[in-house]
This record gives sequence, structure tokens and C-alpha cells, in this order.
Amino acid sequence: MVKRALLVIDLQEDFLPPNGSLAIAEGRSIVEPITNLIKQPQNWSLVVATQDWHPSNHTSFASQHNVEPFTELEFKHPESNQTKKQTVWPDHCVQDTFGSTIEKTFLTEFEKLSIPKAIVKKGYLQDREYYSCFQDSWGLHHTELENLLKENEIDEVVIVGLAYDYCVLNSAIDL
Ligand SMILES: [Zn+2]
Repeated sequence: MVKRALLVIDLQEDFLPPNGSLAIAEGRSIVEPITNLIKQPQNWSLVVATQDWHPSNHTSFASQHNVEPFTELEFKHPESNQTKKQTVWPDHCVQDTFGSTIEKTFLTEFEKLSIPKAIVKKGYLQDREYYSCFQDSWGLHHTELENLLKENEIDEVVIVGLAYDYCVLNSAIDL
């Protein structure tokens, strides 16, 4: 039997309209279909929800650099002289704030699941950006996600969530 995992990326209030600080237009419209996916646990061998989880002074926040959100800045590699350009964002998904919470109707169903499940946090190291839920943007720090997929002997992964062009995209590439 093929073992399939569902990976739900960053279904968090700060990425959701109308009040999220980095809300994705129509983002809330995907909550119900995703919640319906986990109401069919027989389809999954593992369900993982990811959570962007930043300290309040995270380097991806424009406020830390005294520039406007969505500016491109040059970032330095944490351990070498390498640099690269990255966009800075409004403050979002700060640890233990409402904005970082996983959307409630989804989370309620997630908590009911009796199959293997996990919440994987990313973005908690202050000095680096994370788009992929597998690793930071330099590929230095790895989350527990790769091991979770291996330990559960997952053959296939379905990826859903927000935002399609950043965290979903980079997670799919790393997968
Ligand atoms: Zn973030």
C-alpha cells in the first residue's frame, strides 16, 4: 500500500484575510477544502501542519531594517561571506501571538486525528529566513520534517497551504 502524507503549510492567521498582517487574497477560501481533506483520515498515513514561528525581532521583518515592507535587501550568510537578496515583510507570525495561531476550524479537526500527526515549526532562528518547511533559505538548519517522513515510511506527499509562491513552492522543491 502506498503511504501518503498530507502537508499543510502555514495555515496561520497572519496569512489569512481580513486581518492577517501578511494576508494572502482569498487565502481563507482554502481552509474548508483542506479541513475536508483531514476529515478523511483513511487517506493519510501522516498529517503534518507547519507553523511559521518567528521571534519578534526576526531578520525577515522590514521593521528590523528601518525599511518599508516588500523591500529587497542584501542578506549575509550566517557563517560565511556569501550574500543574497531577499524580500523583507511586515511583522508576521510572531511566537505566541494570535497571528501565529493555526486557523481554528482546521486545528480543531487536526487535534481530533488519531493517525500519526505533527506540527512542525520553522523560522524560529532569528538570523535567517525560512521559506521551505524543511530548511532555512541557506540550507544550514534542518527541521524535523525530513525525518518524520522517513520514520513514517511515506511514499507520496500532498502539499497544500499558503503561500503558493513562497512556502508551498519551496517546500515542494525541497521535498
Ligand atoms: Zn515568516
